[in-house]
Amino acid sequence: MPGAKHSRTALSSNSEKAEMLLKQYEQMITIAGDMIYTTDARGYCTHVSQSVEDVLGYSPAEVTGVHFSELVHPDWKKLVTEFYHRQFSRLSPQSTLEFAMQTRSGKICKVDQVVALIVENGKVMGFHAFVRNITPYKQIEEQLGETADHFFAVAQNAHVALFVMRNGQLAYANRALENLLGYDNGVLMDTNILDHIHPDSRALVENALQIQRSDKGRNTRQEIRLEPEKHGERWIDLATSPILFEDQPAIVGTAFDITDRKKAEEERENYIKRLEVIQNVDSELTKLLKFDYVLKIALDAAVEITKAHAGAIHLVEGDGMHVAQVIGDFPNSMIGSHVAIDKGIVGRVFRTRQAELVSDVQNDPDYVRNIIDTRAQMTIPLIVQNRLIGVLNVQTAEPGIFTTNQFDFLKTLTARIASALENARLYDTSQSHLSEVQELYEQVSALEQMKTQMIRIAAHDLRNPLGVISGYLQMVGWDNDATLNERSREHLSIIQEAVGRIDKITRDILTLERVSARQEAPNEIVDLCDVVTATAKEFRIQADEKSLQYHLELPQSNVTVRGDRILLHETVGNLISNAIKYTPEKGAVWVRLSPSRTGDSVVFEVQDTGYGIPEDQQEDLFKPFYRVKLKETRSVKGTGLGLHLVKNIIEQHQGRMHFSSTYEQGSTFGFELPLAGKTKRRPRKTSITPQN
Ligand code: ADP
Repeated sequence: MPGAKHSRTALSSNSEKAEMLLKQYEQMITIAGDMIYTTDARGYCTHVSQSVEDVLGYSPAEVTGVHFSELVHPDWKKLVTEFYHRQFSRLSPQSTLEFAMQTRSGKICKVDQVVALIVENGKVMGFHAFVRNITPYKQIEEQLGETADHFFAVAQNAHVALFVMRNGQLAYANRALENLLGYDNGVLMDTNILDHIHPDSRALVENALQIQRSDKGRNTRQEIRLEPEKHGERWIDLATSPILFEDQPAIVGTAFDITDRKKAEEERENYIKRLEVIQNVDSELTKLLKFDYVLKIALDAAVEITKAHAGAIHLVEGDGMHVAQVIGDFPNSMIGSHVAIDKGIVGRVFRTRQAELVSDVQNDPDYVRNIIDTRAQMTIPLIVQNRLIGVLNVQTAEPGIFTTNQFDFLKTLTARIASALENARLYDTSQSHLSEVQELYEQVSALEQMKTQMIRIAAHDLRNPLGVISGYLQMVGWDNDATLNERSREHLSIIQEAVGRIDKITRDILTLERVSARQEAPNEIVDLCDVVTATAKEFRIQADEKSLQYHLELPQSNVTVRGDRILLHETVGNLISNAIKYTPEKGAVWVRLSPSRTGDSVVFEVQDTGYGIPEDQQEDLFKPFYRVKLKETRSVKGTGLGLHLVKNIIEQHQGRMHFSSTYEQGSTFGFELPLAGKTKRRPRKTSITPQN
């Protein structure tokens, strides 16, 4: 420590009161956080607080007696000495001075020193100095200064646009904001950020700024559209917060350019909307196939989605086209009018079959001006399976509305419209065909009914005279048995046979009528074994006449089914009769009844070694009056009603027909019926030849 020491006795000579005060000072000095020291009239330190050690690194003892100027940093010594010299000479009671002291290790220590003079009788006796170490604050201040510079340097070059608004005007704007808004700083500083915001978004921003002016803690963030006249179609993500800027309340804001994202979002939304339109159009179109309705919805959708002012669908008719539907600015009176195909853009698309987006019709040499003030036009051919069915056309008076995206979309939609129109057309055609067919069907049904009725009446009315003829024939035979010659006898037998055939036909017709008139399934419990056995016996004579092997095979147990005994008898008889009829002499016939494999039904079949039926004649076997045409069976008499009747009866009994036949080998005809219930054991022969 430089300089001479001075005794603290300078003050000890003062009054007791002074002594007391001194004690208090000493106490204060000892506990004081910052450094306090007292000097004598010449400026030598008499009392120094303990904290000198913290501030300058000296102990109080080292400083006591030293001239205060020795504590001042050499750079400041002159200034400080002169300053206090002036204070002493002017007897100014108190002063404040910021300067630098020097620590024991030679470092600068910035201090703020308040000096209060001790004056007695107009004479300076010394002073009290209160020293506040302001080095940390100064450092912070300096750093703050550096940080602020740094902040602005960073802010200036940041990618994100930054600005500060104060009193409704831009007070700071970085380079990114200049780029974003397209103005340089000079121009920007005079503007309000709101000047750059789209009118639609302005209220949002104003509201946010208002909140921040009234409620300092609030930050806001929103997506804002910029003023299109100045900045085109652009969007920003704008965040604002209240701050103090150059000691004044202000608002700091950041802005990101989100135009690309917004466009992508908009595009995505458009895409979704378009998909929805296609889905709606599709579902509407498939729901309602009325041609005119399809035309209307299709055009509605095309115009709505493209934001067009007018639209029309022209349909091909012969070599030309006519207007089928209009919407928007086109008058309805255009519908039905002929369309020239040798001129106009629609005509060109008709000829080339190529979709066209004409952005400025005025520059198109083919354009024919129509009633609306058209600027742009999209014209798409309606093509189905390479066939041109029409041309769809949408127009707008606003330039720039029709984008290539929309054009692509309209092409997709038009493809759907074309096939929907074609479907609707086919549907309309099929509907009119259907009603024609229905009409024909009704006519045929009426005729069919009439025919059936006539056959029924004929069959019914024939029964009586037939009975009379048959009876008298028999009587003629008996009465003249002795007198008739061979020739007359033969004639009589031919007549009898013919009458028998007519009798069979009328019986079959009436049975058929009975079967088809029946509403409910027959429900009598019938033992099919009995029916089959009895019927088989009835045909034994015929089998014998042809020298056929005639076999009957029955199951061990009896078999009951639900049905009509007489009809089942008729059925079994028909099948056995056919087998015998269509098997040449010395052939074989098997009549079989057996349980089915599943055990819940019974199978009846008649197998023969007869003529068989060629495959190409089998299809219509069960149709009424159908007879197979074969040279071998030409002489066999029949009506063609038997199998038809059998099938009807079996179906009415909830059963199914079985049938197989090979030409020149034989046939098997039969049916399967559900069993009525449990079967009761009854011994039977498994195979008999019904000779007895
Ligand atoms: P039809 O009175 O003529 O016998 P069906 O309806 O009973 O009439 O039979 C129809 C036709 O089926 C017969 O004309 C005959 O050509 C053929 N047919 C029926 N059963 C047999 C059979 N077992 N073998 C060969 N042909 C048969």
